[in-house]
Amino acid sequence: MPHSFLYIANPARIVFGPGSLAQIADEVRQLGCSQALVLSTPSRHEDAQRLSRQLGALCAGVFSEAAMHTPVEVTERAMAAYAKAGADCVVALGGGSTIGLGKAIAYRNDAPQLVVATTYAGSEVTPILGQTEDGIKTTVKHDSILPDVVIYDAELTLGLPVSISVTSGLNAMAHAVEGLYAKEKNPVTTLMAEEGIRVLKDALPVIVEQPENIEARNNALYGAWLCGTVLGTVGMALHHKLCHTLGGSFGLPHAETHAIMLPHTAAYNAQAVTDLLAPAAELFGGELGGGLYDFAKYLGAPMALKELGLVEADLDRAADLAVQTPYWNPRPVEREAVRELLQRAWSGTRPE
Ligand code: NAD
Repeated sequence: MPHSFLYIANPARIVFGPGSLAQIADEVRQLGCSQALVLSTPSRHEDAQRLSRQLGALCAGVFSEAAMHTPVEVTERAMAAYAKAGADCVVALGGGSTIGLGKAIAYRNDAPQLVVATTYAGSEVTPILGQTEDGIKTTVKHDSILPDVVIYDAELTLGLPVSISVTSGLNAMAHAVEGLYAKEKNPVTTLMAEEGIRVLKDALPVIVEQPENIEARNNALYGAWLCGTVLGTVGMALHHKLCHTLGGSFGLPHAETHAIMLPHTAAYNAQAVTDLLAPAAELFGGELGGGLYDFAKYLGAPMALKELGLVEADLDRAADLAVQTPYWNPRPVEREAVRELLQRAWSGTRPE
């Protein structure tokens, strides 16, 4: 039991369980709203249309242009659609890309937000928005960005491709691993982080074998909620800094990058905070970096940054950027050590 700590929880109404999408109309009404703009990515347009029919008169329209990293020009089109439809709230159906669009709208007009989360990225329970303009990604944190209601219905995740399920699940685990050594951690975030890692560690191999196993899907969403809540409550460190650098400056895809980097950043920090990472390490055979690497490989995750198209010549610049304005980290962020970490992640070499 720690001697002292600060505990701040984000308000959240979490509606959890297979079939819980049936409650969406009631949830819209309980927010005092009656005209929802349903958001999705282009590939989930059919699902958004179905949700629109389910909402009936409570739906003001559908906007299906959500894209990764929340481009500001898409948000501007969505704001116009929101105004034209006379909407009074947003319903984001999807993963972090769609949720990001809902957050971007709410940040601009304070729209109440409902989220139906269908990946494990965790954005639905954070007051954080990352958006891109002219190729530059910036992050803002504000109370208006935190969604009001989150529905986790595992039935909607049965068709989430195994490859996305795996990388998204490892992305969630990364929030929890960094939560274990976060500067602002408290006993509650530590409980959530340990439980989130444990649940995902058990659920992901089952999903790989049986993608339509509803129990495993439900457990993975539970883990995603726990890990996302940790992300929304405490500050992140080297792992997230490196992934933001690789995503923001080199255009690497979000979840895959997290999945590749996690074993390496965990190994880097395990040297400094062995005790704090011990509960997670135990789950992976005693050594967190190597254990996570073996786990990701078993799941069939991408293992090397070069597979994502990063060229070796970019590693020096990535290391420079990562150490220029580092996030707080439990182990000093040293240029040479980070460069070595990136080399291993680039080639897909197991961390030592
Ligand atoms: P995503 O939202 O881009 O989804 C990946 C793909 O899966 C998309 O094509 C999507 O349409 C599809 N998909 C989603 N759910 C599906 C389902 N149930 N069945 C079939 N296909 C489905 O990916 P993501 O990893 O969830 O989100 C990544 C984005 O979220 C990035 O922009 C990242 O920066 C952001 N993010 C933000 C936070 C935050 O707290 N601000 C946290 C995590 C991620």
